[in-house]
Order: sequence, then C-alpha cells, then structure tokens
Amino acid sequence: MPIDETPRRVLVVTPHPDDADFWCAGTVAKWIGDGATVRYVVCTDGGKGTSDPNVSSADLSKVREKEQSDAVESLGVQELVLLHHADGSLEDDDEFRKELVRQIRQAQPDVVLCPEPYRKNLAWHRDHRITGQVTLDAVFPCARDHLHFEELWRDEGLEPHKTAAILFWGTEQADTIIDISETVEAKMRAVRAHKSQINGWNEAEIEDFVKERAREAISDSGLEFAEAFRKIAFRT
Ligand SMILES: [Zn+2]
Repeated sequence: MPIDETPRRVLVVTPHPDDADFWCAGTVAKWIGDGATVRYVVCTDGGKGTSDPNVSSADLSKVREKEQSDAVESLGVQELVLLHHADGSLEDDDEFRKELVRQIRQAQPDVVLCPEPYRKNLAWHRDHRITGQVTLDAVFPCARDHLHFEELWRDEGLEPHKTAAILFWGTEQADTIIDISETVEAKMRAVRAHKSQINGWNEAEIEDFVKERAREAISDSGLEFAEAFRKIAFRT
C-alpha cells in the first residue's frame, strides 16, 4: 500500500550511525523535498562496528559520527542529535526511554521512523531490537501523557505530544510502501558517506546494493524503487 501524504515533521531514531540511511534515506529525501522538517536521533556512537584489529573504539566512533553528519548534510536533514551511548549497550530502561520522550516532545513529529523490534526469523542486532521497542513505548504512551517523566513537562517545559504513526524499517511484515524512484540517487549519496561501513565496495557495488534493496521493497506496487515499512497508527 503506497502512502501519498507528506508529514510535516519527522523523527528518525537510528541505533547506529548508518542504519537509517540504509533503510529510509530515500523516504527522508523525498519528504524533505516536499517540505518536511526532519530530526535524526543517533542512539549509539557505532564504536564496535569494525573487523579491523588496528582501530580503537574511540577513533571509530569519531569517524562514524562524522560520517553520519555528512550523510545528514547531503540529505538536507535539519537537525542531528547524537546520544553517544556505547555501541551494543542500549537497554530497555527508563534512562533511554526518557531520552527518546524528550526528543519526541521537542521534535513533535507526525511520523517516527525506527527499526522493527519484532523480527522473528532474521538476525537483528540487539541495539536495533531495543531501539525499536523503546521508541514504540516512548511514542505511546510516554510522550503522550504528561505524567510519564513528569519532570520533562514540569522542569523543561516539554508539552505532551501525540504522534500519528510509527514506520518500522527492516520488517518481515511490510504493509507500507514508499516510492523512492525520484530519490534513490540521494539515498546512494547518504549511504556513500558511511565509508567505514562500506569498506571495499566500489561505486558500482554500492549502487547495486542500494538499488537491489529498493527493488526488493516494491512488492507488487508497480513502482521502480521503494522502501518498505510496517505501520502502527495512533489516535491523535
Ligand atoms: Zn545498526
């Protein structure tokens, strides 16, 4: 089912620097082109994502956060927030939930994009699973009701916020297809910024990877390139 409406405000919650660009940069570029305001929240520093024995976690984090900043700039994303948690250390706890509630209440999104928490048969990094679950709980009910993390409302002046929908990327049960035929090149530029994660790929291999995934997502929609999500809608 393609969705045609452009949200005005979008929050993207990505576990590591790179996930969002691999899964939803085409959608982000399309919506920005149609006038949306987008905030990226990057939960961890990505400091474990290498097989190179000669690079330290601290150095890798710096490289990856810079890569994310370059990708965001190329897409025209207006706001980038780095939470700097250690890669692999996210927990489904009040501390992380409160951070995401703060981001939701500040950004006031119509739509939140984040990883599918409930993959069954495909392997999924624990940070992906936990980011999806905690984002879902932060959107509903925590950001909606002022007495959850009351101090955000009382001390920081952040009003409760109702998000209309979450779109989960990396899902096994896609029900929402977004046409990225016009923005697949923009997605490729964002993916290319993550040099440490595409080590060894040449330009043609990057293009093949991005376009292949974007073809897999089209389902029977008749589109050329797409991104696929599972949608959860909320009453607003
Ligand atoms: Zn990741």
